[in-house]
Amino acid sequence: MYRERHIVTDAPGPEVIVDGRRMVNFCSNDYLGLAKHPQVVAAMTASAERFGAGAGASHLVSGHMASHHALETELAEFVNAPRALLFSTGYMANLGVVSALLGRSDAIFQDRLNHASLIDAGVLSRAKLHRYAHLDMQALAHDLAASDATRKLIASDGVFSMDGDLAPVTELIDLARRHDAWLLIDDAHGLGVLGEHGEGSFAAAGSHPETPTILMGTLGKAVGVFGAFVAGGEELIETLIQKARTYIYTTALPAPVADAVRASLQLIKTEPWRRDHLRALVRQFRVGAEQLGFDLPASDTPIQPVMLGSAEAALQASQHLADAGLWVSAIRPPTVAQNTARLRITFSAAHSEAQVERLLVALATLPRGPAT
Ligand SMILES: *Cc1c(COP(=O)(O)O)cnc(C)c1O
Repeated sequence: MYRERHIVTDAPGPEVIVDGRRMVNFCSNDYLGLAKHPQVVAAMTASAERFGAGAGASHLVSGHMASHHALETELAEFVNAPRALLFSTGYMANLGVVSALLGRSDAIFQDRLNHASLIDAGVLSRAKLHRYAHLDMQALAHDLAASDATRKLIASDGVFSMDGDLAPVTELIDLARRHDAWLLIDDAHGLGVLGEHGEGSFAAAGSHPETPTILMGTLGKAVGVFGAFVAGGEELIETLIQKARTYIYTTALPAPVADAVRASLQLIKTEPWRRDHLRALVRQFRVGAEQLGFDLPASDTPIQPVMLGSAEAALQASQHLADAGLWVSAIRPPTVAQNTARLRITFSAAHSEAQVERLLVALATLPRGPAT
């Protein structure tokens, strides 16, 4: 179970040199292939020339630069929210929001498969923790009705990071309104991917973030750069500026990071072919893998788990694919539950159909045969 790191010696892309070998990368979150896009890199370089490498201080001291301010406005517009606030990472954004809104007399309601950062955020806030079975809206409704907490917050991944399935956002919004609760959607894997223009999980559900709903989006996955933001109502954002400790007590992102994100957002909005191609690759994979007899969980997103059960089976499968020049990570407990070890395959708009075909050919020859 010991975890090891692999060293990548070129730019992130559909093929990378890892530990000295060229491999097709099926375990990156660069879903739209923007991490090394020339326009994004050029924006970062130009910004570094002009604004320097580091912001020099936190946002509330002297680190809030014009690039950050412009990006916040553009992010709010992109996800159709009254306002947005930049954070340094998604992990910190989740900790910041939850502990700014909740304290000891409050309660947080979490899907059992939520990301570790949401779980940690709940612990840090000292609110009473309720975890409901994955996607079980009846259990959530029951827990909400039974709670006498002062303030309530429902937290859910928009796209579940290890399974690729979607939160029932419409039902969650409805429950939040009926029970006078906040709803925080962690859209780390939905932003850029879901919604007509890549606006994420709320847009895909015909909604948008505004009190009592909150969107947390990350900028290091489909957006291809680094950082995160929270979008929601005016009062929420003002509250976070006053109270979110992971916003207040940390150095602002470098301006070149913010300007690279701005360039990436333009590409996300104006190049829908990236999402179309990504969807086509996911379909190609699912049709092929189902023909091979693999039992695929219901996921239409670029996250495609192949369930293998034991940690050993997952590691062996990952090694088999590596021998064929394909980099796919084995996900084992405690990241996922016991006996649900898996290959976690992620697709990118930068992949070709031929690369997906190579993956299917290699899966067809997994030594122990397909698990069903
Ligand atoms: C990656 C991820 C985060 C953390 O975002 P970072 O910006 O990488 O810190 C939070 N939530 C989910 C669901 C994620 O997948």
